Amino acid sequence: MRVAVLSDIHANYHALEAVLAAVEHDEPDEVWSLGDAVGYGPRPNRCCATIAARASLSLAGNHDLAVLGELSIEEFSPDAAVAARWSAQVLEPDARTYLEPLEPTAQREGAELFHASPRDPIWEYVLTEEAAADAFALTSAPLVLVGHSHVALAITNEEGRIAGGLARAGAEVVLEEGRRWLLNPGSVGQPRDGDPRAAWLMVDFGAGRASFRRVPYDVEKTQEEIAARGLPYALAARLALGQ
Ligand code: ZN
Repeated sequence: MRVAVLSDIHANYHALEAVLAAVEHDEPDEVWSLGDAVGYGPRPNRCCATIAARASLSLAGNHDLAVLGELSIEEFSPDAAVAARWSAQVLEPDARTYLEPLEPTAQREGAELFHASPRDPIWEYVLTEEAAADAFALTSAPLVLVGHSHVALAITNEEGRIAGGLARAGAEVVLEEGRRWLLNPGSVGQPRDGDPRAAWLMVDFGAGRASFRRVPYDVEKTQEEIAARGLPYALAARLALGQ
């Protein structure tokens, strides 16, 4: 089975559109979304409709839960809180219907999925060796998929030794027996690893391979939409930098 793994779309429709065009070119069997379809960005309803129609599996992220009113925005940065409040106001019934039943974790054959981490599927960033080691300790599947940090990562555990880190565009990992992987596809709609292109991950379970993909999109269109809705300027500026 071949699966396209997307995460952290963050209501950036132009990024999502570019990723899905690239995904269709690869003809995966399934599309999985690791959560945060909304928050930060200007097109929450369109993004929910689009990913709801395409993904066979979707997780809930912290922004999704905040926009639904199921999670306090107290721990959000000021700009994220402004965007979450705005998203909650404009969220349409169909988008709510898509988001409401989602959970922050899921399991499939050979893979455990979390929006954030196994220990705390809603909030914890897996960005340190310690967090990665704990993530492996709390799971048993050969492949652990996480989102949330907006940083594309490929971290491996070979008999207890942790190695790996940032996964650049085009990076490939071999999913072989005796070696476990923790992969973060990076973010579709708000990359924070210095590469502003929209990120996704192609996992080929049959061939035992996963590859990190990036696709350019029209950043200015999304920036214009952010400005038109009166959302914080910083949310637009960061998209051009991938930060
Ligand atoms: Zn996110």
